[in-house]
Amino acid sequence: MPKVYIETYGCQMNEYDSEIVQAILQENRYQFVVQPEEAEILLLNTCSVRENATRKVLARVHALRHLTNGREKIIGLLGCMTTNLRQSLLENKKMRIDLMAGPDSYKRLPGLLDQALTDRKAVHDLKLSRSETYSDIHPFRAKSVNGWIAVMRGCDNYCTFCVVPYARGRERSRSIDSVLNEVRRLAEQGFRQVTLLGQNVNSYHHQNHDFAFLLNKVSEIDDIWRIRFTSPHPKDFPDSLLKTVADNSKVCKHIHLPLQAGADRILDRMNRTYSRQQYMDLVDKIRQYCPSIALTTDIIVGFPGETDEEFENTLDVVQRVQFDSAFIFKYSPRRGTIAARKYPDDVTPAQKTERIVHLNAVQKEISLNKNRSHIGEAHQVLIEELVTRKSDLDVQGRTDGNKLVILPKGDLQVGEMVSVRISGASANVLKGKVIQASIDLSAHSFIFH
Ligand code: SF4
Repeated sequence: MPKVYIETYGCQMNEYDSEIVQAILQENRYQFVVQPEEAEILLLNTCSVRENATRKVLARVHALRHLTNGREKIIGLLGCMTTNLRQSLLENKKMRIDLMAGPDSYKRLPGLLDQALTDRKAVHDLKLSRSETYSDIHPFRAKSVNGWIAVMRGCDNYCTFCVVPYARGRERSRSIDSVLNEVRRLAEQGFRQVTLLGQNVNSYHHQNHDFAFLLNKVSEIDDIWRIRFTSPHPKDFPDSLLKTVADNSKVCKHIHLPLQAGADRILDRMNRTYSRQQYMDLVDKIRQYCPSIALTTDIIVGFPGETDEEFENTLDVVQRVQFDSAFIFKYSPRRGTIAARKYPDDVTPAQKTERIVHLNAVQKEISLNKNRSHIGEAHQVLIEELVTRKSDLDVQGRTDGNKLVILPKGDLQVGEMVSVRISGASANVLKGKVIQASIDLSAHSFIFH
């Protein structure tokens, strides 16, 4: 039984894919270990979205090469870097990568590994598929409260800064039945929350069924208490989806709505397909449907050509929308993207730093005020972890709106839903006290409007 060690970089889709890889290899009599020193095969499931992630992986390959202990190990790369940087990786003889498998090649991994182990020659399979969804694989999962489920893969949007369409190929969705079967399995295993995943999750489409239909079907499964989804694109929010988020009590009242930029010329350069006004109108509509919704976002500062005034436009949207939180990044060109080819990276590092610091400060103030406004309110919190990093006297869980809440541990158990009175807030976290423990949300206790 060859021993395999796997390390995962990047987004939640990669974490999910590593669970798929583990299921496929275990089925083929490979055994997983937690220490790289114990393994003959070292796999890195890579990310290519940011330059930093790519650099980290290359440094890690180098470090792992020193773990040979007198034995040659097979070092393999999986995931986005392999398909996005295929040429440079294939030509890089110094790196000595023994195996490369792209995001759509995992079912062929056992064969590739056998070949690499037998022939001791580099092997690769980097074909992207128009149909692979791994819907017939049951991912290997560590016991947890939340189960991730990829319902669609790939992206057809071609935002000019993004490598995903090149690294992960065209959009494709799983069948409703295959998603529901996976959710049922999760419920049987004790998971109480599912998060539906996709690079562009709300463009989910199978036969005549859209994402709203899928959410409603998933919500019919007993013992799943909460449903989340990530990441959606602002272009795919029909009224039926907004109504589902508002009315279906199992669908969490949180939408991550990537803004990316607040100036029309930059949005156009990014090929985001919406204007600033369309984005603001969508926010208004979401809040009309669901006044209590928590909104979070992604923003890129310093996209090529972004002037001070255009950055102020982004700042203005942030101030008007009042997001609950935001992930803010500095632009860096990614090889192979349209932006990298077409637009010089002309915003200086100092300007990018100044803008990100400014925007983070503004958002922090907004997040703090938003969080403080919850003090005194009662929220249902699903307990996720028994021990916080800072103290083993506390547990942490999340509200429906995805706010992290710290609670005194007491007798609380992971997976328990409790009612909590919020007693304190910082920009990142709420504090609270339990006012009702062990709320039973199984079967028919939900009210659908
Ligand atoms: S929607 Fe845009 S940013 Fe998101 S994965 Fe697709 S191309 Fe990338």
